[in-house]
Amino acid sequence: MRLLIIEDERKTAALLRDTLTQHDCEVICVHDGSSGLKEALNPGWDALLVDIMLPKLDGLSLVRELRAKGHTTPVIMLSARGEVEQRIEGLDAGADDYLPKPFAISELLARLRSIVRRSTRQRSVVFSVADLSFDQTSREVRRGGRKLELSSRESLLLECLLRAEGRVVSRRDILASVWEYDFDPGTNLVDVYVRRLRDKVDRDHTPPLIQTLRGLGYALRTEP
Ligand code: CA
Repeated sequence: MRLLIIEDERKTAALLRDTLTQHDCEVICVHDGSSGLKEALNPGWDALLVDIMLPKLDGLSLVRELRAKGHTTPVIMLSARGEVEQRIEGLDAGADDYLPKPFAISELLARLRSIVRRSTRQRSVVFSVADLSFDQTSREVRRGGRKLELSSRESLLLECLLRAEGRVVSRRDILASVWEYDFDPGTNLVDVYVRRLRDKVDRDHTPPLIQTLRGLGYALRTEP
């Protein structure tokens, strides 16, 4: 995780930096609000830790300004005063979480992991293999630049194969992920849908991407 700490108490900032670095984080500290905002506007941060009481620009204004500029980087507000009003003010300003000082580093780490996970999920994920692309959020599928119309099941099936990143997915796993069946209904449901999907994704295109591995399942990849 790449973290930016904006905290004017240098001792606290240094302690946080050292501890978080030991937990495989890459940490930069700045000690006032206006240089904090400037740094926060650079791309590439996984999360920001922002103290509320800061010289030059307070933490709440910093977060407000960051959000006003359209930046969605997750923010945890830190404050010596753990009162409810401050917490609400922080969240209203656009912070994702609030941690009253003093806090246990394990709690900070848990909250960091949770907000970073949330923000990664919200970010649009686009899978692509050869000239096929699938946007997880808009559900748009393209092959060779042309948009493909898939039914919702077909699109779930495609997503299931793409998530496996070229590994073989068994019929059982496909049934579980696309139909939420935890049993094999003993029909050729999967084969029927794979055929339909193949018709849309692979027909008129090279190389064929959807592969059948007899007795094992299906894979989506360029190489056999
Ligand atoms: Ca402070």
